[in-house]
Amino acid sequence: MSPRAPLPIGVHRTAGPEQTEALGARVARALAPGDVVLLSGELGTGKTTFVRGACRALGVTGPVTSPTFTIGRRYEGHVPVSHLDLYRLGDLAAEDPALLADYLAPERVAFVEWPEVAGGTLDGVAARVRLEHRGGDEREVTVA
Ligand code: ADP
Ligand code: MG
Repeated sequence: MSPRAPLPIGVHRTAGPEQTEALGARVARALAPGDVVLLSGELGTGKTTFVRGACRALGVTGPVTSPTFTIGRRYEGHVPVSHLDLYRLGDLAAEDPALLADYLAPERVAFVEWPEVAGGTLDGVAARVRLEHRGGDEREVTVA
């Protein structure tokens, strides 16, 4: 990966999916292997869209879509990347952290939607991203 850029900490407004992808890319450039990014926000706020932009910046070229029928997907970019969506997982992850181990290895960068479900089992959190609807295609995206 290229030298790390600073994390774009703060409150951002995006007016469409491509702007949310661009913000995801900015966050990605601040990451190093082992980093975990948590994404929270209602369905449809753009968590997966944000991760798609981040994955592009990390060199992932194929489709980046929401994990379905699985808790996550793994991609090979300039670094190995994991994308987890714990929405349907219920209490399973909290009960069995080993379920997450394949996705949260120290050499990987990981993005986790609905991280609340995993309880306190996530280490290496580098950024927390909160997305909120602001009417139409507007979103407020807070990076902390
Ligand atoms: P989530 O993962 O939070 O459920 P998705 O990224 O899967 O959300 O879906 C977000 C949807 O909203 C997509 O259809 C996307 O095109 C649309 N959209 C509209 N405006 C925006 C925006 N500003 N940022 C992100 N997505 C947006
Ligand atoms: Mg999603």
